[in-house]
Amino acid sequence: MPRTINAFAALERGGPIRPWTYEQRDARPHDVRIEVQFCGVCHTDLHYVGPWGREYPVVPGHETVGRVVEAGGAVTTHAVGDLVAVGPIVDSCRECAACLAGDETLCVTMATAAYGAPDRHGDGLTRGSWAEQVIVDERFVYAVPDGLDPACTAPLLCAGSTVFAPLRHWNAGPGRTVGIVGLGGLGHLGVKFARAMGAHVVAFTTSASKAEDAPALGAHEVVVTGSGEMPVRRLDLIVDTVPAVHPMTPLAQALATDGTLVSVGLPPTFDVAPFALAVGRRSIAGAGAGGTRDTRAMLEFAAAHGITADIEVLGSGEINTALKRLEANDVKYRFVIDMRR
Ligand code: NAP
Repeated sequence: MPRTINAFAALERGGPIRPWTYEQRDARPHDVRIEVQFCGVCHTDLHYVGPWGREYPVVPGHETVGRVVEAGGAVTTHAVGDLVAVGPIVDSCRECAACLAGDETLCVTMATAAYGAPDRHGDGLTRGSWAEQVIVDERFVYAVPDGLDPACTAPLLCAGSTVFAPLRHWNAGPGRTVGIVGLGGLGHLGVKFARAMGAHVVAFTTSASKAEDAPALGAHEVVVTGSGEMPVRRLDLIVDTVPAVHPMTPLAQALATDGTLVSVGLPPTFDVAPFALAVGRRSIAGAGAGGTRDTRAMLEFAAAHGITADIEVLGSGEINTALKRLEANDVKYRFVIDMRR
């Protein structure tokens, strides 16, 4: 029987976010129904409420932690009462080479996003976790490791995964110098992960107060972009999380020969001089959140190293405040909504 779900949605482009209800589809045999406890506020949510949105109403929210309240008859990996987490993708073709390898975010048919995407079984659009409940196929539901605080874990599911996956792919580790650009939700976790992987970490920030925090997050060096002196020809890898157009030529010039500048921040365009790539045979690359294999590895690594997000928790009536403050770069370092209040 479909049930009515209390959610928070943008009813039109630009918002605001308002209470809204929708009829949730029935759970399928491999689905789990999750009562949402905490959900992060990612900059991508801000994009989707605004310029990236396609269909409204949209219920955002893709950094989910909650309790399983129902498990379909074929579910084997989770049980009622389990503390679980869900990230930005909730389905994929499961047949292509990427899906078979657990790299579902690289699915050739494009993975199904947690919200605003057509359900592959024809059950309308997916709805996110700014809501009392979500239904998700067990394959895309992760156990929250023991010992990790549930609220501080929620941002790991997108922000954490999106920096962990490229750090792993481009071999951040001992003997490597890794830059993290932009100390927001993604970036502050990038610093923590890169440090725990054993790399020498250089944080790049525009914010003087975040520059003060950066060593405590794990940075060995901090550069205040725009006013600080930039490193030259010595970084092996840079993970750039900045969502806006920004000067990338000085970042490219900070790379050593054969270094890679990985943009995960999805700015509208790249502002980089090709000359800065040619000199030093540097590369520019893009990356996104990990699939199920990397997400599981990320959660295990986070538990082993005690890594979670630094958060500010707000109630569900304060989502618009969170979005406004996120847009103004006024959060250290991730808003998490307590969906129970
Ligand atoms: P965020 O919390 O707002 O952090 C972005 C940080 O970038 C800010 O805290 C700020 O750091 C810096 N920044 C912002 N505007 C800037 C500007 N004009 N010039 C230079 N630096 C600037 O956002 P987030 O949640 O981390 O997300 C970052 C971006 O990644 C978003 O566009 C989001 O959509 C995207 N994203 C992509 C994926 C993916 O799969 N590729 C996944 C998740 C998110 P400082 O104050 O330290 O300068």
